[in-house]
Amino acid sequence: MGMTIGVLALQGDFAEHAWMVGELGARAVEVRRAEELELVDALIIPGGESTTVARLTVGQSDRLFDAIIERAKEGMPVYGTCMGSIFLAREIEGSAQGRLALMDIKVRRNAFGPQRFSCERELAVPELGSEPFPAVFIRGPVIVSCGETVQVMASVPEGIVMARQGNLLVTAFHPEITDDTRVHRYFLSMVAEAGASKESRFPRARISVEALAGR
Ligand code: GLN
Repeated sequence: MGMTIGVLALQGDFAEHAWMVGELGARAVEVRRAEELELVDALIIPGGESTTVARLTVGQSDRLFDAIIERAKEGMPVYGTCMGSIFLAREIEGSAQGRLALMDIKVRRNAFGPQRFSCERELAVPELGSEPFPAVFIRGPVIVSCGETVQVMASVPEGIVMARQGNLLVTAFHPEITDDTRVHRYFLSMVAEAGASKESRFPRARISVEALAGR
C-alpha cells in the first residue's frame, strides 16, 4: 500500500496497533519525537492512561504535540483508541488535564463504572458492514456530546463509542487486541483518501524511516 502509519509510542498498547497495521500491509513506525512524525502519512494514538500522557504535554521538551496538532489541522488522518480518544477530545468531563483538543467531542473517562471496568460487546457499526464488531472496552470512556460535524458511527447505552470528524477517527474500544481488522482497514482507507487528494509531503524522508525506528 506504500503508506507509513505512525503509532504514538510514549505509553500504552502501541505495539498491538503497529502489529495490526503491518498485518494489513502498511508500514508502522513508532513515533516519540517531532522529527519522527514528519515521516508518517497518518498517526494512531493507542490506549493507555490519559493522565500519564497528559503530564508529558507540560513543558514538552520537543515540539511533538504541537507538531501533531499542526499536521492534523492540515489534514493528516489521526485515529485514537480509548486513551487516544480522550487525548484528542476538545473537552474532558470534570478535568482540565492536558490534551490535543482537536476533535469536537466531550468525553467521560471510565464511563463503564467500577463494576465493569472491562467487557466485550457485540457492537453494531453499520459503516463496517452487517457483521457486529467485537468491541473490547478496558476502562473505556464514552463520548457524551459532540459537534454537528461529528459523524457518530456506533453507540452503546452509556454513550457514543465510535465517531469520525473529517480526518479524525476515535473508538472507545480496542480493535487492536482482537483479530477483527475492520476498524484499522477503515482507517487505512481514510489515509488512502487523504493521500490521493494530496501528494505525500515527505517522499524523500521515507528513506530514513528504518534508521529512525532503530531497526
Ligand atoms: N481509563 C483510561 C484513561 O482514562 C483509558 C483506558 C484505556 O485507554 N484503555 O485514560
